[in-house]
Amino acid sequence: MRIAIYPGTFDPVTNGHIHIAERASKLFDKVIIAVAKDNYKKNLFSLEERIHMVEQSIRHLPNVEVDSFSGLTAEYAVFKNAQALIRGLRAVSDFEYEMQIAAMNKRLNETLETVFLMTSGEYSFLSSSMIKQVAFLGGSVKGLVPPVVEIGLKEKYCVAAKV
Ligand code: ADP
Repeated sequence: MRIAIYPGTFDPVTNGHIHIAERASKLFDKVIIAVAKDNYKKNLFSLEERIHMVEQSIRHLPNVEVDSFSGLTAEYAVFKNAQALIRGLRAVSDFEYEMQIAAMNKRLNETLETVFLMTSGEYSFLSSSMIKQVAFLGGSVKGLVPPVVEIGLKEKYCVAAKV
């Protein structure tokens, strides 16, 4: 069975992420979207919220599941019997950073391959941080994120505005 891990922070998941998951699901028997528990970034959504939003957004993909992990992705992949890591590539600016991660993961686990999928044009300028900025300023993110995320962002920022 060919298993791939699609790791990330997903704070929050966007349609760009989902599009990558959809395409990966055609290449692998099973794709696990692995939501990072904690990292150096300060997250807007809790781990539970991020997992819930991914879960709601992949219901149309029977061979894609969501899980959480902490620690090294390369070790988590072994634990899950995965042969590949999926990463999405947007602009050239992603490339250097992604190459560094891929090289380090190869060092940590020689048998693990990183598979890069190029984003489609419509999502090439889409990032979780851009979505948060626009939503924070009251702009519409419709069509860029799954409906559950749109609701989640409204709740976060309306509550924040009232404090
Ligand atoms: P990280 O915290 O590892 O940077 P993210 O949650 O921001 O992770 O993203 C996870 C993966 O999805 C990364 O490989 C990132 O390049 C990719 N990605 C993010 N946004 C998009 C998009 N709009 N189109 C394609 N890939 C994307």
